[in-house]
Amino acid sequence: MQAYGDRERLDNLFREENNRYILTHPASRENHEKALGPMVEGVPMIWMSKWPGPYPVYVEHAKGAHFTDVDGNMYTDFCLGDTGAMCGHAPDPTVKAVQNQIAKGSTFMLPTEDAIASASLLAERFGLPKWQFTLSATDANRHMLRYSRHVTGRSKIAIHDYCYHGTVDETFAVMDDAGNTVPRRDNVGKPIDLKETTVVIPFNDLEAAERAFATGEVAAMLMEPALTNIGIVLPQPGYLEGMQELCLKYDVIWILDETHTISAGPGGMTRKYNLQPDAVVLGKTIGGGVPVGAFGLTQELAMRIATSTNLESIDIGGVGGTLAGNALSMAAVRATLSEVLTPKAFERMEKLAELWVANVQQVIDEFELPWQVSRIGCRGEYSFRATAPITGREAADADDFELQQYLQLHAINRGILMTPFHNMALMSPATDEEDVAHHHAHFREAVEALYRD
Ligand code: PMP
Repeated sequence: MQAYGDRERLDNLFREENNRYILTHPASRENHEKALGPMVEGVPMIWMSKWPGPYPVYVEHAKGAHFTDVDGNMYTDFCLGDTGAMCGHAPDPTVKAVQNQIAKGSTFMLPTEDAIASASLLAERFGLPKWQFTLSATDANRHMLRYSRHVTGRSKIAIHDYCYHGTVDETFAVMDDAGNTVPRRDNVGKPIDLKETTVVIPFNDLEAAERAFATGEVAAMLMEPALTNIGIVLPQPGYLEGMQELCLKYDVIWILDETHTISAGPGGMTRKYNLQPDAVVLGKTIGGGVPVGAFGLTQELAMRIATSTNLESIDIGGVGGTLAGNALSMAAVRATLSEVLTPKAFERMEKLAELWVANVQQVIDEFELPWQVSRIGCRGEYSFRATAPITGREAADADDFELQQYLQLHAINRGILMTPFHNMALMSPATDEEDVAHHHAHFREAVEALYRD
């Protein structure tokens, strides 16, 4: 969609930013030219080629809420590795714990005491008693889908229209206008017809959820408590509680993916709204930058799994991973949760996000933009529509790829990194008011260039 009408001006502004980027990033360009030899599209993972600008920024070093690139440009980082570095870059307690552990060995196929401490901290925060660890949130989600099918004997997974849960096959489906499940546009190498595996329902639509569950085919409802990957879509009052009741009524395993919504507080939206999911999925944040994912289970679900599997075959069928629960990530989680991502840190981060939102709103008001801004704890995002979206489809319809790329590149050229493919900003424990003011100045300037007469 084109949320911004003057495409010629947008093209010109983008071209100006592109030229400015080329002038100020010669060393990143040199690296990119070398990278084109040994890597596909010159990037270590293909989605990195989607950053705006002719080649990506090469990072030299980072600390807290800031990083410096190979050209010596300095940035305030609101992307924070799209939540992987939500604790700020290289937080001291995590660095210390990781240095200590790596010198003592990092992976054994055996547990360490840090695993007990990490699981206990998560149990305390999220209220779910039984935890398992993976290397990513994607894997944690996959494992939960396996277990859900296993204990219910059902084949389908329910998801929200325009959700994202990592590279999980079942989740790359959307609803067409007639309400049918269809593969998401350009879904690379889809395994089988997604109608076989997936039912898609709109966010905030309990009737659609009940219709799906009443078929008796749905093993699990995998969802974020607020959508965060198509802009932010907040739950309407009663939606989460209603979903909880429906899952209970139809014995559908209710999985809350809190990978991003952990921004709501130390126990995510689960704790904030006193929700009782069957399982919670986490990833990215909890290792303070070290790869790790986790899922927590109720006692009852852990029992259902235990009594329907047997020891000899416990490693057959898609749940596992040699490096899962390794000593290094366990040391990182323990230090990060107990010393970095503390309840006190969350309080500060949330206040900064309130300020970030107020600044964005100020610009929206000043220029009378038909845009809006939403927040989940320490995460904020603006979108190109006048009111907060209620469904993923509404949020998707407000997208404007070129406008977003311009705003992103304008930010990079002013020393600000926003989450790519979004208008999203995250506050870390190291972010401060000056950082937030830095974003305000860029945002106002970028909007002024778009709307000045
Ligand atoms: N769940 C959610 C809600 C996410 O936003 C993401 C990644 N953006 C994932 C899972 C997957 O995380 P990862 O790529 O680290 O496995």
